[in-house]
Amino acid sequence: MASRIVPVGGTIGIMGGGQLGRMMALAGRAMGLNAIVWDPQPIGPAHEVAGDAITAGFESEDALLRFSEGIDAATYEFENVTYETTARLARIKPVFPPPDLLYVSQNRLREKDRARQFGLATTTYRAVPSAQEARQVAADLGFPGILKTVSGGYDGKGQIAVNTMEEAGMGFQALHGSEPLIYEKKVAFIQEMSVVVARDQNGRIAIFPASENHHDQGILDWTVVPARVPDPIQQLALHQAAAMARGLGLVGVMALEFFVTAEGELLFNEMAPRPHNSGHWTIEGAWPSQFSQHMRAVAGWPVASPRLFGPCVMLNLLGDLFLEGLDKLTRVLEWPGVQLHWYGKTAMRKGRKVGHVTVLADSVTKAIQRARDVKVALGGAWHDGA
Ligand code: AMP
Repeated sequence: MASRIVPVGGTIGIMGGGQLGRMMALAGRAMGLNAIVWDPQPIGPAHEVAGDAITAGFESEDALLRFSEGIDAATYEFENVTYETTARLARIKPVFPPPDLLYVSQNRLREKDRARQFGLATTTYRAVPSAQEARQVAADLGFPGILKTVSGGYDGKGQIAVNTMEEAGMGFQALHGSEPLIYEKKVAFIQEMSVVVARDQNGRIAIFPASENHHDQGILDWTVVPARVPDPIQQLALHQAAAMARGLGLVGVMALEFFVTAEGELLFNEMAPRPHNSGHWTIEGAWPSQFSQHMRAVAGWPVASPRLFGPCVMLNLLGDLFLEGLDKLTRVLEWPGVQLHWYGKTAMRKGRKVGHVTVLADSVTKAIQRARDVKVALGGAWHDGA
């Protein structure tokens, strides 16, 4: 296998052509790393900034060989990349995070099982193999609950709320394809929180401060840092993120999502072995950014202890706001401390992430207030709830 240290001027292969790949490629470029994108689609956010692109499905043998020839190391920007492809690629070129992490994260049961092995508390859950058992599992674990597909779900997709045994049976029929399902007891959380942790090839760990996350209809709406969560709970989350990173052999960046209950319990929900939407604030709000950390680790370079510059809010921009055009977009730049990120997506669709805004301010309250102003100026509604 080639050297695991990529020289400045080397090339990182990115599997997936979305906004995370774009921001990885941008961060890499700043440090002298080129990017080649491999994606089934011929155009996408990452293609605009990558030096080259391969358009093919992830099962293509020919594409795998061409991709591997042009790169020094590879990474992936989403979890729908075929695990087998990353494992085969890893025999030719270094792939980070190691494909094992992709394997774990592609399945909700696996990731919760692993989290428990490392001492993290999780929601109560159980596998649901049939409609009959869906009723039984729901009755055993209790209501309300949520049925989820074990893989492929994102932004709240592939999930159904369950309040009765009948709904459990119906939910199973509605969701069940070739996929097994998982039933989770619904958590009455008071806050959602995530932690982005980076680990380099020498095992050095660098953790960003925890992010407090607010969702709307299953999609991350906004994130604020520092999180308004009691410090001991934040410290526990950081400690657990480090334990997972070490235990799973992470190289690169990984995000862990947690629920915080009124009783002060911290419950692991899910993980992603890549930069995360709830870490986008690090581009302006910290040094280095999560993308920079990721590229450093993938290239075999050291990760750095992050510095937080001050309170900030990341506000997601969905296509819903721009169905009639982009004219109002530049309005947001009139406020101080506001930075726009636009992903260059061609179609504005409801529920589709098309950009985000970072707001830097002197206090959390002011950052939230300004983010609210931005959202309203763009014609959106502000949601305060968790
Ligand atoms: P997930 O895809 O698991 O991250 O779920 C998306 C969102 O649905 C989460 O961020 C929560 O807001 C909500 N959710 C998921 N699982 C649960 C649960 N067990 N209890 C309460 N809310 C949940």
